[in-house]
Amino acid sequence: MSNSNVTVCVRFRPLSHKERKGNDKVCFNKLDSESFVFKDERDEDVIFSFDKVFYDDSEQSDVYNFLAVPIVADAVNGINGTIITYGQTGAGKTYSMEGPSILHCNELKTGLVQRVLNGLFECLKTSANITTWTVKLSMVEIYLEKVRDLLDLSKDNLQIKESKSQGIFISGATEISIMNGSDALERLSEGIANRAVGETQMNLASSRSHCLYIFSVQHESTPDERVRAGKIILVDLAGSEKVEKTGAEGRVLDEAKTINKSLSALGNVINALTTAKPNHVPYRDSKLTRILQDSLGGSSRAALLCCCSPSWSNSPESLSTIRFGTRTK
Ligand code: ADP
Ligand code: MG
Repeated sequence: MSNSNVTVCVRFRPLSHKERKGNDKVCFNKLDSESFVFKDERDEDVIFSFDKVFYDDSEQSDVYNFLAVPIVADAVNGINGTIITYGQTGAGKTYSMEGPSILHCNELKTGLVQRVLNGLFECLKTSANITTWTVKLSMVEIYLEKVRDLLDLSKDNLQIKESKSQGIFISGATEISIMNGSDALERLSEGIANRAVGETQMNLASSRSHCLYIFSVQHESTPDERVRAGKIILVDLAGSEKVEKTGAEGRVLDEAKTINKSLSALGNVINALTTAKPNHVPYRDSKLTRILQDSLGGSSRAALLCCCSPSWSNSPESLSTIRFGTRTK
């Protein structure tokens, strides 16, 4: 569908227990695996199409196979990639990334983060000509436009830098070498526990920060013994809900404004990348887009998963998420 390296998908989570009990209705009509009908701002039925639409019967592995497998394969060949989950609080962003819990979840429900890691190791181990390799993990969050190290909370204002050899990097961020997927789980769950959470009326522990999992791969391969390096950044974005709806004041309002600003910066960057000949891509408009600069543009591959609640009561927010997705195609 899109003529760029950005894959845009929508995922509707199942109705929650509470929504079912409250007799909430589903707000979309499924057409096929790429399109659905949704009422627009004027209450008219509109068909929306994406590279793929995941409905409530989709498995975590379906999402991984469609949007992450090509990115994993590329990273092993030295091409950077990004996977982003977007949507209002409660729409399924974290579930898609981490599953119900990163430490305790069965194979079926395992999220993208762990699947990407396992996939990376699988590619490295089974590739006949790769001789030595290292995989490193960093975890940061962007909160109020500050980059905090989730693996070391004493580092709460990291700077983003750029060098010829490393490309864009977060200076001083903790990097842990990992040998296999399960090795990383302890540290990942430590990082997740360190995320800033705030209380809004939407959700008791809604995430008000962008969380970034950064996996860098470096390996040597025969016969040329060239060192190749690639990285994959997975981004669990802060909730995209409108400020008014959350009854925000003071710090919460500041959070919401900063979040909105960086989300629109992200939209503008992807939009610029997906137009035929972008003459200016505004990477420097936010910390988020600056960090993603060399994992989002050029030859890198990106996937955007727009997560939506399926319920009527959330349909204005879902429409806004769907619109974000269509604008980036
Ligand atoms: P977000 O991170 O966007 O705020 P969550 O991922 O925390 O939202 O999801 C909200 C709730 O819905 C959680 O209880 C989560 O387990 C559940 N949920 C989300 N997506 C799915 C899904 N695809 N299948 C089953 N439950 C889901
Ligand atoms: Mg979340």
